[in-house]
Amino acid sequence: MNYLSKICRTTQPYMAGEQPQDKKYVKLNTNENPYPPCNGVAEYIKNFDSARLKLYPDSDNKALAAKIAKKHGLSIENVFIGNGSDEVLAMCFPTFFDKDGDGVAYCDITYSFYKVWAKAYEIPSVIIPLADDFKFDVSEFKQSKCQGMIICNPNAPTGLIVNRLDLISIIEANPEKLIIIDEAYADFCNCSMANYVSKYPNLLIVRTFSKSYSLAGARCGYAIGDETLIRGLKTMKNAFNSYTVNSLTEGIAIKALEDVKYFSSVVDNVIATRDEYADELRKLGFDVLPSSANFLFATHETKPASEIYYQLKEKGVLVRHFNLPRIDNWLRITVGSPDEMKVLLDRLRAIVNA
Ligand code: PMP
Repeated sequence: MNYLSKICRTTQPYMAGEQPQDKKYVKLNTNENPYPPCNGVAEYIKNFDSARLKLYPDSDNKALAAKIAKKHGLSIENVFIGNGSDEVLAMCFPTFFDKDGDGVAYCDITYSFYKVWAKAYEIPSVIIPLADDFKFDVSEFKQSKCQGMIICNPNAPTGLIVNRLDLISIIEANPEKLIIIDEAYADFCNCSMANYVSKYPNLLIVRTFSKSYSLAGARCGYAIGDETLIRGLKTMKNAFNSYTVNSLTEGIAIKALEDVKYFSSVVDNVIATRDEYADELRKLGFDVLPSSANFLFATHETKPASEIYYQLKEKGVLVRHFNLPRIDNWLRITVGSPDEMKVLLDRLRAIVNA
């Protein structure tokens, strides 16, 4: 007897980056931030009254929603919070796309979870290929027949961005379609479209605390958009699980938002390290795409990416290799601390010069 649903039996789940426990690695494979969260977070955890855990959290996380709304000059009705931006994105599928609709459009090379969610919710996918140099095809998105689209900006795993004017042209050309922009990495390039959500009712921005706020383990992400979009997301969330963000995480995220100075210094450090090591990799014979994120996407002129990946792993450095069409000769390398990047460079030098 097979008790699994047809959809479960045929779903290929998302493959998250390895979190190996066998030894200590220099871990540059899951785009985590090398710096700890701000001191306010540590203080908050130290002083957290565990008796609060007797109670359920506020299911709308209104205290955090108010902080997020203030950051973006919006009101709490424009904010939806979830257990990581993965959950927020997952909620978008049943909220905004129909099984028998025109489908959800996204690039062929982008965050690979979009395809998984589309399949799991049985929503048709409209795949728009990137150009040979991985550039985004603005005109294809402007005229694509779909119910809505998801644009990852900066894109993962390429790190390339679509500029603001192009995004505006896509949003304005498609007032009847929802444009979701996944801004998981937007703090590393100052390219956020958050300021435009009050102007465009068809724009939904999804953001996370995992990357620029160093809180991947706390699991918190959010969407901002028109009230009707947010109400829709809350309806579907409350048809699934009312209490997705726990009370400790809510307080942690508030503390992270309050320390603007620390946030900026972390982002600046990551950007400086990224740009320095992009150049270092080029000197070793890598073609490195100009990154606007906290990772580098690189291919070597002679050594195959899979070989470099395995040799780096053997030498205690983990990077991400995707065994997927078009990108199987590329590596995605998270920007670590300067010390971690020195180790990476050292090991890479030995590998490519062998
Ligand atoms: N979007 C993109 C493009 C990502 O790379 C990730 C991280 N895997 C996420 C969303 C989800 O991040 P989180 O759930 O930690 O907010």
